[in-house]
Amino acid sequence: MRETSGQTAVKQRTGRGWIIVLALIIWLSLTAAALLFFDARTVRFYLYGGEEMNVEYGSAFTDPGVYAVTAGRIFGESEKRLDIQSEGTVDTSRLGTYVLTYSTNFAFNEYCTQRVVNVVDTTPPVIELKHIEGYQPTWMTGYAEEGYTAHDNVDGDLTGHVERLKLDDRVLYTVTDSSGNSTSVERLLPALSYRPPRITLLGGDNMVLQAGTWFEDPGVTVSDDLGSDLSDHLVTEGVVIPWFAGDYQISYSITSELGETISAVRNVQVVPVGLPQTVTPEEKTIYLTFDDGPGPYTARLLDVLDKYGAKATFFVTAQDSRYLDQIGRAFKAGHSIGVHTSSHDYNKIYASEYAFFEDFFNMEEIIKQQTGEYTRLFRFPGGSSNTVSNFNPGIMSRLTRAMNDMGYQYFDWNVTSGDAGGTTKTDQVIQNIKDGCKQHRISVVLQHDIKDYSVAAVESILNWGKENGYSFKALQLDSPGTHHGVNN
Ligand code: ZN
Repeated sequence: MRETSGQTAVKQRTGRGWIIVLALIIWLSLTAAALLFFDARTVRFYLYGGEEMNVEYGSAFTDPGVYAVTAGRIFGESEKRLDIQSEGTVDTSRLGTYVLTYSTNFAFNEYCTQRVVNVVDTTPPVIELKHIEGYQPTWMTGYAEEGYTAHDNVDGDLTGHVERLKLDDRVLYTVTDSSGNSTSVERLLPALSYRPPRITLLGGDNMVLQAGTWFEDPGVTVSDDLGSDLSDHLVTEGVVIPWFAGDYQISYSITSELGETISAVRNVQVVPVGLPQTVTPEEKTIYLTFDDGPGPYTARLLDVLDKYGAKATFFVTAQDSRYLDQIGRAFKAGHSIGVHTSSHDYNKIYASEYAFFEDFFNMEEIIKQQTGEYTRLFRFPGGSSNTVSNFNPGIMSRLTRAMNDMGYQYFDWNVTSGDAGGTTKTDQVIQNIKDGCKQHRISVVLQHDIKDYSVAAVESILNWGKENGYSFKALQLDSPGTHHGVNN
């Protein structure tokens, strides 16, 4: 019985041991699981060079490297480095932002991190200054740029973007590239050793000329220390109006590119010629005057005047060049010759003073050719009272003043023959002249020797005049001008 009971006791002892072992195993497992849970093991990356880095444009890029280990709160980092895969590239020939991705696997999970790489340009452009051998600044140009270039590693040629600041003794050149990198260089200027050029007035600083003498500018010379002729840069201002007496100034100036101006002034005094005192004849006098010729009837007229020993005045034109020699013949016969303009074209001669005097002096030259001398006698086409010149207001007032300044006596008339439109009949011309002359002791008669019916009247007038005690004379510079009132 005791044996039986002993066997039972062993069996009971063995059953309890298993329970203890099992409980121990469960306890250890729970403890390990808790440790693992609280350790929270993960992957930790280490990036050499940092998470973001800048790389210079054009440089060679080498990844500074990365490693990864596992790490937990309880057991810390493991010594063992994990295998890492890298993705992404960096192109340093293009500015921009690149991303590199690093990944690894641990405990059935993929872990990754990133690095940002900026390809940047921090290299400023380069400015190169050119130098010209023996270069010297001049007064005219000051310092003339010898040249420069600007180049940038990213932008290439930046010469056109260079800003140039001119200072007294230096030039500052600045350029900025597209990344905002600036470069400045300066150039010290060569010593400014020049002197200003000189303007020399040929013909003198002061000129005096008589009214009516064409003014021809004798000119100037401009030269600098280097002997350069700068006359191309000369600016001439001011005019001399040769038919009006007065004080005129002509200025000559030259301005450098730096804005410095050198100038010289010429004074031109146009002095009036003036007229002699008028002498009015004592005796009854008829001044026969013939305008607009010479023409086909002028020769016949001269014959008649010769026959009676009468003198007359011809206000001549060059409208018919075939008869210009009659001017010389009339002059030699003792008649007076006066200018009546060359063209007798109202629209042309009264368009401007310049146009007028161009035409006027053209006729003077013809008279000189025919007679050997210039005249001082003149009659305005249409007379000084004409209104055909109204298209140019004031022209007659200006021209009559100019005539006086120039020493020309202009003549109007106080007896009209009516041959310029009033009548074409010789008898009427004779009657008009007789009627007119009876009203004046001194008569200035207007006729036209290009009208045959007017020329035909002359012999009767001469006979009538002689019978009635008149002298027939040629106008002289001091004869009465018989001026009309100027209406324009
Ligand atoms: Zn006329």
